[in-house]
Amino acid sequence: MVEQAPHMTADEFRRYGHQVVDWVADYWSGLPERRVTPDVSPGDTAAFLPARAPETGEGFDEIVKDLDTVVTPGLTHWQHPNFYAYFPANTSGPSVLADLVCAGIGVQGMLWATGPACTEMETVMLDWLADLLDLPARFRSSGQGGGVIQDSASSATLVATLVALYRASGGRWRTDGVDRHYTIYTSTQGHSSIEKAARLAGVGDGAVRLIDVDSSTLALRPASLRSALEADRAADRVPALVVATIGTTSTTAVDPLPEIGEMCREFGVWLHVDAAYAGASAICPELRWSHTGVELADSYCFDPHKWLLTGFDCDAFWVADRAELIQALSVLPEYLRNAATESGAVIDYRDWQVPLGRRFRALKLWFVLRWYGAEGLRAHIRSGVAVAQEFASWVRSDRRFEIVAPYPFSLVCFRLRLDDDAASDAANAELLRRLNASGALYLTHTKVRDRFVLRLAIGAPQTTREHVAEAWRLIQQTTSSVDHDLEVMIDADSRRSAHDHGDLGAG
Ligand SMILES: *Cc1c(COP(=O)(O)O)cnc(C)c1O
Repeated sequence: MVEQAPHMTADEFRRYGHQVVDWVADYWSGLPERRVTPDVSPGDTAAFLPARAPETGEGFDEIVKDLDTVVTPGLTHWQHPNFYAYFPANTSGPSVLADLVCAGIGVQGMLWATGPACTEMETVMLDWLADLLDLPARFRSSGQGGGVIQDSASSATLVATLVALYRASGGRWRTDGVDRHYTIYTSTQGHSSIEKAARLAGVGDGAVRLIDVDSSTLALRPASLRSALEADRAADRVPALVVATIGTTSTTAVDPLPEIGEMCREFGVWLHVDAAYAGASAICPELRWSHTGVELADSYCFDPHKWLLTGFDCDAFWVADRAELIQALSVLPEYLRNAATESGAVIDYRDWQVPLGRRFRALKLWFVLRWYGAEGLRAHIRSGVAVAQEFASWVRSDRRFEIVAPYPFSLVCFRLRLDDDAASDAANAELLRRLNASGALYLTHTKVRDRFVLRLAIGAPQTTREHVAEAWRLIQQTTSSVDHDLEVMIDADSRRSAHDHGDLGAG
């Protein structure tokens, strides 16, 4: 007789499921008492785990218990109210519960036929989002375009790169591969996924032109883009893709889309707009100025998994011409042929992405959009922006500091200012080291105009004005101790505001 696997019964699943939901609820409510970053060394977590998988199954209570002994001590807590690093990757109750439903039904939505509700809800959710962000009509499924969920903005960039090559080659890319010297353009502040996409697409780093930026706004300089496009044309290379950014990763700079978009039309180049983080802000009409010109884009994406309370992974990606995307990526083997596909009346999302398989991620958008409503989501974005603006005003009023880039969203880039550049970088790096070593908060850094700069990004669901005010007190206190220990003489009174980059706020 063949032994049956010890599947969890429905009753066991119900009991343990409640236990796990309780665990997550306790984890969230206990976050403020934890350090934001773990106090661990490489190998600490691995050392807790046995060298081999168990030969016989274990009790579920044992497994849940080890979440607290093995997992949480080694976590960076991204949902912590004092998490200000990178960009937020926030989640929410409705998002997590939708993911549970998604996992439970275990649908594989590669074709319309393998999960009709999975496909159709995704189309409608992307239309809902396009409507909420006031994206151009050409991206809606009612016209020639449409939206799809990618795992991440990096995948959106890759898909845009592939279809841009398809277009630039007059379709030959599909059969012949990269047959000429195609080129790709973004600013020096463009995301690293653009270079990765160039490698994956087979055109290599050598195809990527990093266009310089305006020294105060850090936005792409259209005149430099034009020179680069003309130089490549003159050398018989084929410009294929421009990636413009709304809200760069380093400082949230906004590239001038209207000029870039017109230039892309003139040169016949695909324009992809990467709004991974800042795109969510377009749900608020007063923040939509950053999207002016987006109607000139061939594709656009943003990450609900960053700032729109939808758990990783969820990147919303739209194209203005879905036929071109499908022609570029579709391969139809015999075993996937079916009547619905043949009828041409349905979307098969496998043709809109790199993998074949896909989960029912539209569920978490459906849950999140219905639970919060547009008003609730706007409140989340607005409170983050308002607190960031207030934080910036505190930084500006302390003459030991300077703001180094515009801060129209909820990221503020700032630094201690010292006349000696090398001493200044060392002092800022030491300030960041001490702040993060305290475990009370977590910030990361970037370089702006070659100088070491601290970034404070707001957006975790539990973060309030009081948390940020407390963070600012800690930054001020730690600055005084750095000043004392390094004897760098951050002398507030002797300094003029000559370094101040003027009015860099949202207004
Ligand atoms: C975060 C970010 C990305 C990458 O996001 P993933 O979804 O993690 O791939 C791409 N572009 C910009 C501008 C970003 O800020």
